[in-house]
Amino acid sequence: MAPSLNSYLRRATAEGWALPHFNVCNLELLRGIVLAAAELRSPIMIGTSEGERALFTPAGAVALVRALADEFGVPLFLNADHTHSVALAKAAIDAGYPSVHIDLSKLPFAENVAKTAEVVRYARKQKREISIEGELGALATDSSTVFKGKVTIDPASFTSPELALEFVHKTGIDRLAPAVGNYHGMSQTKKNLDFTLIKELRAKLRKNVALVLHGGSGSGEVAFKKAITAGIANVHISTELRVAYTKALRESIKKNPDEVVPYKLTGASTLAVQKKAAEFIKLFGAKGKA
Ligand SMILES: [Zn+2]
Repeated sequence: MAPSLNSYLRRATAEGWALPHFNVCNLELLRGIVLAAAELRSPIMIGTSEGERALFTPAGAVALVRALADEFGVPLFLNADHTHSVALAKAAIDAGYPSVHIDLSKLPFAENVAKTAEVVRYARKQKREISIEGELGALATDSSTVFKGKVTIDPASFTSPELALEFVHKTGIDRLAPAVGNYHGMSQTKKNLDFTLIKELRAKLRKNVALVLHGGSGSGEVAFKKAITAGIANVHISTELRVAYTKALRESIKKNPDEVVPYKLTGASTLAVQKKAAEFIKLFGAKGKA
């Protein structure tokens, strides 16, 4: 049987590399990512937020990613990224998702624990293995924006290792998304990640619980490497691929103002995404790990 997502994550934690998690909202982005994964033999997580999965329909995303994984012979794990309700988490599982990120980090701790645990129980009742991620601590931003100014983060919002241990113990999650100075989107300044906190979290939690870094875009090569060395086994990238995609699309439309065939205009975007995704796969040490 092909290795599960959790087994790849355990391997990444033990060996000091990270699985890339790339978000998709259309076929061209997905295709660019899959081409990079196939070329470099890397296992990949494909993320769809609530909005993104509505575009494909959850069952449509499952079928499409499964077909591409078979066609290209590469492990692709579809994740229901930032799912904000138990009902939508269960719907993703019912649609065939192999992975769900239940994000109730804005709720009080006890409620976050109870509802995340409910999703874990539901996942464990299924015949197949489903990987569940919970989130603790507040990220400063919610979506993929390129901010003009500086984004400042209050260290009081960071995840406490003691609470993280309690959260993991009480929920039974496979992966934890902590707040360690990361945020969604990018700004003019590089992100200030707390590597000491990542190390503390890693030391505190069982090895079979993977640490996930959200809002990776714009962290810079050095910070990514340090975060992975400190214990991150999965890095989320969305904005940087979207920037590559839209930049290529703008240039393509400018160069071919009379072209009306969509895939002739988006071909350059797919290539730009493939190139960017390949850079991250290599940077995270995931090349050849499929
Ligand atoms: Zn995220």
